[in-house]
Amino acid sequence: MTSNTYQDTQLFINGEWLDGEGGASIDVVSPATGEKIGKVARASVNDLERAVQAAQAGFAKWRKVPANERAALMRKAAGIIRERVEPIARLMTQEQGKPLAEAKIEVASAADIIEWFADEGRRVYGRIVPPRNINAQQTVVKEPVGPVAAFTPWNFPVNQVVRKLSAALTTGCSFIVKAPEETPASPAELIRAFADAGIPAGVLGLVYGNPPEVSNFLISHPAIRKVTFTGSTPVGKELAALAGRHMKRATMELGGHAPVIVAEDADVELAVKAAGAAKFRNAGQVCISPTRFLVHNSLREAFAQALVKHAEGLKVGDGLAEGTTLGPLANARRITAMASVIDNARKSGATIATGGERIGSAGNFFAPTVLTDVPLEADVFNNEPFGPIAAIRGFDKLEDAIAEANRLPYGLAGYAFTKSFKNVHLLTQSLEVGMLWINQPATPWPEMPFGGVKDSGYGSEGGPEALEPYLVTKSVTVMS
Ligand code: NAD
Repeated sequence: MTSNTYQDTQLFINGEWLDGEGGASIDVVSPATGEKIGKVARASVNDLERAVQAAQAGFAKWRKVPANERAALMRKAAGIIRERVEPIARLMTQEQGKPLAEAKIEVASAADIIEWFADEGRRVYGRIVPPRNINAQQTVVKEPVGPVAAFTPWNFPVNQVVRKLSAALTTGCSFIVKAPEETPASPAELIRAFADAGIPAGVLGLVYGNPPEVSNFLISHPAIRKVTFTGSTPVGKELAALAGRHMKRATMELGGHAPVIVAEDADVELAVKAAGAAKFRNAGQVCISPTRFLVHNSLREAFAQALVKHAEGLKVGDGLAEGTTLGPLANARRITAMASVIDNARKSGATIATGGERIGSAGNFFAPTVLTDVPLEADVFNNEPFGPIAAIRGFDKLEDAIAEANRLPYGLAGYAFTKSFKNVHLLTQSLEVGMLWINQPATPWPEMPFGGVKDSGYGSEGGPEALEPYLVTKSVTVMS
């Protein structure tokens, strides 16, 4: 793999790298130039069936590998990833757009995630329950659920796969992922690290194709026992319904619309630094991205000015170029979406304090944007913008900010800045979110639960909770 050479991506089925049946493929386009940079193999229904057969055989083998040996193999794969951070990150930046420094963090943290899950899998304990008959032994045993089908999006091509894959492998499940067709090469390198570490054939499968065709096939296939999806709420609802119809367990990590509450006693400098960096990371294409900035009216102006300064200090450009801090949006659909959000904000009376426009005509560059005095009805305050747009509104009473934070059906991440313990207590008790970060940016470490409530989905992709959905419980009573 030479440093700036993009590579075509194949399917990985039964331990082999393969083209799609008949050589079918999908083009991969650079978000920085709009030009084709490569292609990805497209799986047919026959390819998918072979992937499922392989996963079934792989499961039969992998579930019998002791947990410490599974952990050792996972740690070996993590080590390989660490050695390949730079080339994998370069592929990611070329296909997804994010600055190389961000891509490197994503790849390096994949190794950390794998290692944490490898160790956690060694602590999947059952229990012994006191029997009612002294001659009986009652035990509770945890077993892997079976072959897993995962569907992951393009915003974090490696990270979105690695959390699911690590939970599956450490618990003894086999795993097929339909990774994103728009950003296929970097997740394929994640799978390659496991292949090079010696994962048995069939334990891991990688496919790409037509998303509804692949999800319909895999979710309804009797051999698949668990479904896990990250993406938009509308698609998540469809897939959850399909999983329900086929009685498949499901984990849904869906959209968010994170509120950032800056209380009267907040450290404004800290709030701008932490939330500003989080807002524009990956050009705002992040499910936990801060979006609704609810700022106490006494601080609103100072906060807005500082956030504008932060936004204007970002260097927009090709993610591979030295010094770039904001890359292009991942696909042309996001540019259309941003234009519509801005148009709606303007019409609804919001002020565009900075940005609000596409930059240039080649590639998907969009200026970091700060909107102030945003009316509640504005689209940006109701639907996930999934782009580099921060929207600010003032409030007088903390209770009102909490009510606004909870108004939307989303409930993924929330942020708050305050120096008072009383406020921390109130915010912790009242905010309807799955993850709350106070006086700091998001730190989604693998050891902490990661997931949402309400329309943001269910299930967790971090902490010991992340293993549970991959395990079934067997209750065994033996009379001596
Ligand atoms: P989209 O809703 O069509 O797709 C979102 C993801 O789901 C993509 O990766 C897509 O390939 C996949 N997908 C779509 N239909 C599918 C199906 N039937 N079966 C399996 N996978 C399917 O739209 P998009 O333009 O790709 O993304 C736009 C929106 O998606 C964003 O506004 C954001 O809300 C959401 N999104 C969320 C995340 C996240 O991390 N939660 C990531 C990417 C996109």
